[in-house]
Amino acid sequence: METRHLLLAFVLLTHTLTTGLWWTAGTWMGLSSRAARYWLIATLGNGVALCLMLVPGSGPAQLRVLTACSLAALGAIWLRQGLQVFLKLPHAETRQLALSMALMVFNILVCVPLGWQTAGVVVSACVVAATMLWSAREIFHPLRQEFKRGTAWAATLMFVTVALGAAVTGLNQLLPHWPWPWLQSPLDTRQFVLTFLSVTLSILTSFVLGYIVVMRLVARLEHMSLHDGLTGLLNRRAIETLLEREAQRLERFNQPFAILLIDIDHFKRVNDRLGHPAGDRVLIEVARRLQAEAREVDHVARYGGEEFCVLLPHTEHEGALLAAERLRESVCERPINWDNAAVTVTISMGLVCANDPQESLQALLRRADAALYQAKEGGRNMVVSAP
Ligand code: GH3
Ligand code: MG
Ligand code: MG
Repeated sequence: METRHLLLAFVLLTHTLTTGLWWTAGTWMGLSSRAARYWLIATLGNGVALCLMLVPGSGPAQLRVLTACSLAALGAIWLRQGLQVFLKLPHAETRQLALSMALMVFNILVCVPLGWQTAGVVVSACVVAATMLWSAREIFHPLRQEFKRGTAWAATLMFVTVALGAAVTGLNQLLPHWPWPWLQSPLDTRQFVLTFLSVTLSILTSFVLGYIVVMRLVARLEHMSLHDGLTGLLNRRAIETLLEREAQRLERFNQPFAILLIDIDHFKRVNDRLGHPAGDRVLIEVARRLQAEAREVDHVARYGGEEFCVLLPHTEHEGALLAAERLRESVCERPINWDNAAVTVTISMGLVCANDPQESLQALLRRADAALYQAKEGGRNMVVSAP
């Protein structure tokens, strides 16, 4: 079996697999569906282009080469389109479609009849290189904001490398006798090496794209596992982890902290009078006000139905009491609007300060809960400190 055939089998296998993966991700799993659809077209285009380059017997050589070039350029254009959709960058689908069509027409209807193979290959290579460089430029910052810096660099370098590969292909066509050592090899070998590099780059590009799709999914799942769906605050699991960490800091560095347990007063009345959606709206607004009033270092969480928990790191009793009063006032000072009604809600709080490393977290939370109960007993809309 010739090496060419092995390479062809490899292209068929990898590109069928990648196309299948984008199809599964986009349709079945609903993962970045629109972007996945663009990448599916790009992979298909690229795969067919590579196959055409590897099957020399199939049809007139010029038509084959120029169709392959058009498909490779189309792949690059749709790859960029997918990235723009994925990263929510402004994009012009019609313009990109027009560019793909224009290149197709130029290559097949102009270059083939006139025998301008070099012009077709060079123009296609320029389109691929420019598209890839443009992509590399526009994706770096959005990727760095969303993912780690390494991911942004890897993706950007990947696209720059593809652009370089396209430039070398164009140069190879334009200057077939350029005296670089490896270019002095027979034309056939050179073509083979370039095709092999294209296959490698195509697979690596799919890998990079797959990686960012998976990383976005992982980040979303992580966010969902630690945040409350209604209010967007941290959830109970997240605040418990933070409380444990703070308890360890107290034990190791003797660093005190405070906990506020908050409960909305007579919340059931809101639900009963105005309905559950109004209750939800009140929960969202109370959460927003608590979060807005808390310091950046504080952690605000939804602890249960209409209960919240605020962790104040590095805070003694006096500071915690001031913060608690500020939070209480921020909730009751303005009514919350709902469907032409203005709902005024108040909150009760139990405050506990942790400065004894021997006291367990459970005991602390029990004391905070008891203080909250006293606030309710004492008439609500107040802060009670645990003794
Ligand atoms: P108190 O002042 O004694 O705290 O009175 P309350 O009515 O707030 O007390 P209670 O704990 O009996 O009522 C809490 C209510 O919160 C009951 C439940 O239906 C409601 N609730 C819990 N989670 C949600 C939610 O996600 N949305 C809405 N709308 N209501 C919720
Ligand atoms: Mg309650
Ligand atoms: Mg309540």
